[in-house]
Amino acid sequence: MQEQNEWMGYSASPQNQKFIAAIHTKSAYGDQVHDDFGGLVANQSGYVDVPVFLSSVRTWLSEKGSFVDEWFDESHVQLDAEMISYKQWKASAIIFCTGTSASRLWKALPVKPLKGETLTIKMETALKLIYNRGVFIVPSATSQYKVGATYEVYQLTEAITDRARIELEMGVGSLLKIPFQTVAQDWGMRPTSPDRRPMLGRHPDFKNVIIFNGLGTKGVSLAPYFAGHLANWLTDAAEIMAAVNINRFKALYSKS
Ligand SMILES: Cc1cc2nc3c(=O)[nH]c(=O)nc-3n(C[C@H](O)[C@H](O)[C@H](O)COP(=O)(O)OP(=O)(O)OC[C@H]3O[C@@H](n4cnc5c(N)ncnc54)[C@H](O)[C@@H]3O)c2cc1C
Repeated sequence: MQEQNEWMGYSASPQNQKFIAAIHTKSAYGDQVHDDFGGLVANQSGYVDVPVFLSSVRTWLSEKGSFVDEWFDESHVQLDAEMISYKQWKASAIIFCTGTSASRLWKALPVKPLKGETLTIKMETALKLIYNRGVFIVPSATSQYKVGATYEVYQLTEAITDRARIELEMGVGSLLKIPFQTVAQDWGMRPTSPDRRPMLGRHPDFKNVIIFNGLGTKGVSLAPYFAGHLANWLTDAAEIMAAVNINRFKALYSKS
């Protein structure tokens, strides 16, 4: 009830109205979900099918001859004030977008992994909306849905776990009225920063070594905006916002 009141207040402002399609104070989708107290239907929202997106981008880059599918071995990089060399390639700068992978050059930056697991479920009935309460349930491949996600700071094994499956299945069970079946499970590591802000900027010792990391739990939503921001900075069109500039971790660099 308190949350509903907060949303009502929020929706009163004209600039917020465009994001709210409806606020229901009683059940509106009771044939599919447990929503006795109603809920909020958001406008201008959606989802990205990340595997489909990544595969399409890889194909597009490959067709332009701009993609090499191999592990980047940092020990082969040669850093020079004007030029970066790596195997047969030369470039004026290098941008590290390597998530939680260890890096010799960036070891002073406090990027911490936050493990997340997801399920793929299937059911007989198509869902009318993306439902989100405790867990999200979004469409993936035909008649299948992606459910997520867990947040695990300590148990960082690179594998799926029964604990996460049970947690997610309980979440879906308390939201959906429709029977479902789990058909797959997956895991990933989110690269987080201590202040939950992305990390963008220039290496303190090598001016042509750049970082784009720390996207945390919201990389899919934030990456387009901050990739544009980084591009503007690289072309001298703008400064990096202080809140995301790695200069805020300068003290850590001076200790390393
Ligand atoms: C379970 C889960 C749920 C999520 N849910 C959401 C969500 O609801 N909304 C949202 O916006 N985002 C979500 N995300 C995205 C996530 O939060 C991150 O922000 C995002 O994945 C960060 O993207 P990235 O490309 O910076 O890092 P990563 O996704 O970690 O990608 C880095 C890539 O670099 C590769 N790499 C590293 N080192 C090398 C090397 N030396 N050579 C070659 N390749 C290398 C890695 O293999 C990896 O593929 C979710 C992620 C997970 C795991």
